[in-house]
Amino acid sequence: MKTITLLSAFLLSCFFSFAQTTTSKLKITPLTGDFYIYTTYNDYEGSRIPANGMYLVTTNGVVLFDTPWDTTQFQPLLDSIKLKHNKTVTLCIATHWHSDRTEGLAYYKQQGIKTYTTALTDELSKKNNKKRAEFLIKRDTLFTTDQYSFETYYPGEGHTADNIIIWFKKEKILYGGCLIKGVDAVNLGYLGDANPAEYETTLKRVAKKCAAPKFIIISHSDWNNINSLKHSIQLAKELKKKPKK
Ligand SMILES: [Zn+2]
Repeated sequence: MKTITLLSAFLLSCFFSFAQTTTSKLKITPLTGDFYIYTTYNDYEGSRIPANGMYLVTTNGVVLFDTPWDTTQFQPLLDSIKLKHNKTVTLCIATHWHSDRTEGLAYYKQQGIKTYTTALTDELSKKNNKKRAEFLIKRDTLFTTDQYSFETYYPGEGHTADNIIIWFKKEKILYGGCLIKGVDAVNLGYLGDANPAEYETTLKRVAKKCAAPKFIIISHSDWNNINSLKHSIQLAKELKKKPKK
């Protein structure tokens, strides 16, 4: 019996040292209450870029907002959630068609997770050969899962034609995805699929919809500064003024 205990202690310590060496690929940070931010990384034009997603722990399961960008972290994220909260992921919503949001959709569908995007995201994912969700939402939708509700909101074109945000009215958490950039951003990032003429108006709709947010979660930088939306509106205003090339 003692041998078994020692053996399991040994295995456990192996597991934790293994987990530690992989922390650089997957980072999980508590946000508030049952909300957590997860971060994976990818190389983009020679730099290591973080991509943040979020998850919410409810009584009967975990809701995932977007998927890891790093394709090696789909299962490690599920495993970490299971280990940390002893719960499985039941639902996953991606907020636009780019890979840093949708890459894990097919894998998660295979694992029996209910995957969602808007119909417009699905159309663009199909066109651009990206992973697609099983279920489509056709208009802004209020999801209620156990003790929590959240609303998907399409504010118009900006970062992409299909970008949505997610609003937790009660908790005042605005999940902005790639539409909103950090306070240190000097521009609005990758604009290859963007609508520079509409970006400012779209962001102003978000500001109007999500009154006095306590947290604004953004994809590619720190979420600790609440001025990110204001700053992004300013960047979008400057972008609109720029002469077209
Ligand atoms: Zn992005």
